[in-house]
Amino acid sequence: MKRLLALAAAAFVAIPLTPASAFDGAPGAPGAGDPYFPNQGNGGYDVGHYDLALDYNPSSNTLTGVATITAKTTQELSAFDLDLVDSLSVRKVTVNGEAAAFSQSGQELVVDPGSALDSGEDLTVVVRYDGKPTHVVDPDGSRDGWIRTNDGVFNADEPQGAMTWYPGNHHMTDKATYRFTVTVPDDRVAVANGDLVSRRSGGGRTTYVWDAREPMASYLATVTVGKFQLVDKKVDGLRVITAVDPKFADKAANFAERHGAVITYFSSLFGPYPFSSTGGIVDFGPNVGYSLEVQTRPIYPEVPSDSLMSHELAHQWFGDTVTPTRWKDIWLNEGFATYAEWLWLDKLGRTPLQDSFDSAYATAAGDAFWQTPTADPGSAANLFNSPVYERGAMTLHMLRKAVGDDAFFRILRTWIAEHKFGNADTSAFIALSQRISGKDLTSLFDAWLFKPGKPALT
Ligand SMILES: [Zn+2]
Repeated sequence: MKRLLALAAAAFVAIPLTPASAFDGAPGAPGAGDPYFPNQGNGGYDVGHYDLALDYNPSSNTLTGVATITAKTTQELSAFDLDLVDSLSVRKVTVNGEAAAFSQSGQELVVDPGSALDSGEDLTVVVRYDGKPTHVVDPDGSRDGWIRTNDGVFNADEPQGAMTWYPGNHHMTDKATYRFTVTVPDDRVAVANGDLVSRRSGGGRTTYVWDAREPMASYLATVTVGKFQLVDKKVDGLRVITAVDPKFADKAANFAERHGAVITYFSSLFGPYPFSSTGGIVDFGPNVGYSLEVQTRPIYPEVPSDSLMSHELAHQWFGDTVTPTRWKDIWLNEGFATYAEWLWLDKLGRTPLQDSFDSAYATAAGDAFWQTPTADPGSAANLFNSPVYERGAMTLHMLRKAVGDDAFFRILRTWIAEHKFGNADTSAFIALSQRISGKDLTSLFDAWLFKPGKPALT
């Protein structure tokens, strides 16, 4: 997908490679083993923190980055990979302060520290890189990653865009905390996840520092740049930071305030809001055809409707706090967020919950919709197809009818509490549902999650 660029030859040849020996361990795997995206993520280490110092010039689309990655090895390693597209040029890599050899091919940045690393060793990897970042086109034809706008970048990274702008272990199973230090021209704003820590100007440029203190999957990170109206205020006791493109100013007057009621309601259903701040980004630009539940700060290509906003905020629990283990389990994100959207429309008095279910269920039995098993849409090209959303939401409604309201919401709250800031899969959700309800739910989940065809309502 990406063209191969010449390596940073000077940096590469200056470092003598240690000859391989039998005691040097093995190289880490180039992927995390996810069949939908085999090269995504890497083996042999676990990242704890990313410190990303980025300098971005929107008019030339030039990005200069220093990524300081703190990790721990999980095996003896002769070499390891980071995910970064090779259209960005790596200039230098150090491992624990020592210059390391490296090479780039496709989305793999291979780092050879010269001598083997022990298992369980603390690792600090510093990668200096630059270039003109661009987005990737996904198997379903949509764009993600570094998507340029007329005044900066719309940065949404699900499922594979993180590698377009920073090096890392980009499978969702390796969560980490982040600090973003982003320098842009004075008339632009750099928005990222978490809390805005500082903002300082000098020489016509402004540096924004953002801290994401709760662990986050790579695809939920953002650095979005543009001309924005930045609002940072308390709403219903929670810090809300919003960034709205001035083109949407008239439609977004109360955008920050709108977060309060949704988060209060969802907190009452799913458990306390898990992060130290919330908010959203509304960016005018190339319409990507989707919005994304960026952690703490969803990104939208337009001012969101109540249902869309509730969907992305529900993801803060389902998808962000608890993240799937494999991409095929994506219904754990989308089915749950869609059901939460139905709950919110019911709460607002717009659409009764049962009506939302009934209209989804009315899809004719012969329709292709019923042929996709919810819990494995089959390939990365089907990741965001409607059964993942609507059939997923219907699955939860049927579960609720089978176990009753009390057990149902205890299942959801326990799901969040037990897997907070971690990952979990469909089988864990089924096991939890059976444990809390005390019921054998095998046939319900078989019909709704795993078998093609329209399930009966009994
Ligand atoms: Zn969603």
